Amino acid sequence: MTASVTATPHSAPDVVSRVSTDLFIDGTWTPAASGQRFDVVNPATGDVLARVADADATDARRALETAAAHQADWAATSPRHRSEILYRAHQLIMARVDEIAAVMTAEMGKPLAEAKGEVAYGAEFFRWFAEEAVRIGGDSTTTGDGSHRIVVTRQPVGPCILITPWNFPLAMGTRKIGPAVAAGCTMVLKPAELTPLTTLLLADILVEAGLPSGVLNVVTTSDPSTVVTEWMESGLARKISFTGSTEVGKLLLRQAAGTVMRTSMELGGNAPFIVCADADISRAVDGLMFAKMRNIGQACTAANRVFVHRSVIDEFTDAFAAKMSALRVGDGAAEGVQVGPLVESRAVEKVSALVSDAVAKGASVVCGGENPAGPGFFYPPTVLTDVGLDADLTRTEIFGPVAAIIPFGDADDPGDPAADDEVLALANDTPWGLVGYLFSQDVDRCARLSAALETGMVGVNTGAVSNPAAPFGGVKESGLGREGGRVGIEEFLDVKYTATPIPRR
Ligand code: NAD
Repeated sequence: MTASVTATPHSAPDVVSRVSTDLFIDGTWTPAASGQRFDVVNPATGDVLARVADADATDARRALETAAAHQADWAATSPRHRSEILYRAHQLIMARVDEIAAVMTAEMGKPLAEAKGEVAYGAEFFRWFAEEAVRIGGDSTTTGDGSHRIVVTRQPVGPCILITPWNFPLAMGTRKIGPAVAAGCTMVLKPAELTPLTTLLLADILVEAGLPSGVLNVVTTSDPSTVVTEWMESGLARKISFTGSTEVGKLLLRQAAGTVMRTSMELGGNAPFIVCADADISRAVDGLMFAKMRNIGQACTAANRVFVHRSVIDEFTDAFAAKMSALRVGDGAAEGVQVGPLVESRAVEKVSALVSDAVAKGASVVCGGENPAGPGFFYPPTVLTDVGLDADLTRTEIFGPVAAIIPFGDADDPGDPAADDEVLALANDTPWGLVGYLFSQDVDRCARLSAALETGMVGVNTGAVSNPAAPFGGVKESGLGREGGRVGIEEFLDVKYTATPIPRR
């Protein structure tokens, strides 16, 4: 199948031209010391959208020194003050949904409707942490011998390094800025070089919401290694919160060891999506449409390996492929488009190579599988079946709109309990452990399988797990720590206890 692509509807630069493209340090927009800039490209057209300040180590140092200089004053502000800034920022973001979504779609490619969904999701982290800011607790107890009182309090960890990926340009930022503001930490934030504009717009909104100068400093660069190494080795930062690939996460963990820095790592995934013989098939198809196609398949939570019981595999594959084939591909800014471009040409090359490898190793293409002609970095919704376990895409994040269906179980014996053990072994046979999805109508099976999945999150009969109220994060090589939920703020707080003698009568 050759997908047709819907053309660009209007000029995206209108909204983009209003975004500040300098570095944001100490409350001031400032060019890079070197005067250098780098291009931000619209993946739907390949056109340059904006030229953004290209920071080097000097700019990086200045930004972190600023954050460090403001830490004590910021930590001394009242929780209610910090909470109200976050509430205002939530309202301001929601009042500007269309504008923020248009910028996001222009620089990243996701369809406008999805971009609006991310704006609401991202803003919700501010409302959630506005509520958490005033609930930072402690406790008090007495030593066993009655000699001392122990008072446990929580304090901000100190200046934080925040690093975000390109795939959720707003939400990955607010998921870190929200708890850092609530806890009383100052920050340097480096957005991904592919999608800096949404973050720059967010900085402007936070100023309008009343965030004091120097609390958040945003540094854009085409050379992340130089900027972040400067921060990691400075001795000024007390915490790094990173979302991105496992490869870069490991590198940062090694660097963090140098100053024994607190770390939160939201890394890659290789999510299993399990459809048991007793699953509600239409629900499982809808679940996979979301878990696979959210963000054009470019999500850490994306279903990467779809394990379907042989007794239902034909019914499931036919229904799923029909939905995938009906999706409208095109410029995400165009009305009705459901699948935008991938983020860059390298992503299309990677996805194409993974599909070719799977097919060479025996997989069949049910739909998709061919690149449409440019411009733009498009890849069509693709369904592969009979994917072998030796295919490269079972061991790496596909990060594209390709569903790899892998059979398990005995087609003639849907009730055989051995199928559960078989699929569990397959699902857990990966160094990653972010999320797993599982579809079955048997509550006992759901409980057993979800407990045994080696992941930080499980979607049972749902393809959606991301929510500000939930502790998002992984186990194994998918990361350390959690973002969101009640525990999200803990990542930005140190526990301190104070002992005082209890006077004897
Ligand atoms: P990436 O690791 O290439 O980049 C992430 C960030 O790290 C970017 O800001 C980038 O500029 C920066 N970076 C790159 N090299 C660096 C270096 N040497 N030193 C310091 N910083 C460096 O990842 P990506 O391609 O932007 O994002 C996709 C990855 O992120 C996928 O693996 C995806 O699964 C993961 N991700 C995870 C979550 C989660 O919550 N677990 C969420 C979204 C994305």
